[in-house]
Amino acid sequence: MPAIDSLPPLRDVIATYELSAKKALGQNFLLDLNLTAKIARQAGDLSGTDVLEVGPGPGGLTRGLLVEGARKVLAVEKDARCLPALAEIAAVYPGRLEVIEGDALQIDALAHLTPPIAICANLPYNVGTELLVRWLTPAVWPPVWSSLTLMFQKEVAQRIVAKPGDKAYGRLAVLAQWRCDAYIAMHLPPEAFSPPPKVSSAVVHLRALPAPRFEADAKVLERVVAAGFNQRRKMLRASLKGLSPDIEDHLNAVGIPPTERAERVSIEAFCALARQLA
Ligand code: SAM
Repeated sequence: MPAIDSLPPLRDVIATYELSAKKALGQNFLLDLNLTAKIARQAGDLSGTDVLEVGPGPGGLTRGLLVEGARKVLAVEKDARCLPALAEIAAVYPGRLEVIEGDALQIDALAHLTPPIAICANLPYNVGTELLVRWLTPAVWPPVWSSLTLMFQKEVAQRIVAKPGDKAYGRLAVLAQWRCDAYIAMHLPPEAFSPPPKVSSAVVHLRALPAPRFEADAKVLERVVAAGFNQRRKMLRASLKGLSPDIEDHLNAVGIPPTERAERVSIEAFCALARQLA
């Protein structure tokens, strides 16, 4: 198999810098550079694009992103042990890789980049959902980023792309699909990682729409959806009671039966209810 770049194989990088995986940091590394280049390609054409990568680790996906032509990669890594390996990559791609050591939850990394911006990451599972929700709920839409290409545990990926009536349909599906096109781009078995996690994984691609699919105030919609799915087995007239004393009238006004459950309500209907309540 031809090498994708002039850097050493990732197994050698891990041995050289003694990067034994730490469970607490969600470290399941991708060591096949053809696979990381394939994941990078799911982000679309990266030429002329700045890329934010959270958790580069030994740099497998980082190398994929650079090989695929990213204008610049900004990588935020919490584990200082990875920095020398990332410095080696930066030396081979002068001016194209910047690394910030720190916690991605504490750093406003997007402020360092120039649009168009793509976010691409093999996320640590413990912070993945929180980062996704932050990226999906900026104060203004469209956001500064154009697309998200993110690795999740398969069950989380299914929650992002789920449709009304699916078991996985919930707050994450509504937040994601209200303002993005979202689909599962790749499935990965545990053996694709080192060490292999207990679960399967999937890469989700989300493309920000220029405007939300349906009109609604984001804060009101988030409240409605949070209340509805917080008690997902309850009828909406019960789960949404806290939002308005006249909730049954509001539900009827937008054509949602008050006896319906949140898991069967479309994004369009949730938006209509949010407008009615605003
Ligand atoms: N991208 C590498 C790969 O694909 O092989 C590593 C992926 S590994 C699943 C997750 C990476 O995120 C690890 O390198 C870990 O140290 C890093 N990490 C964990 N929590 C983080 C946080 N809060 N902020 C930034 N990086 C974090």
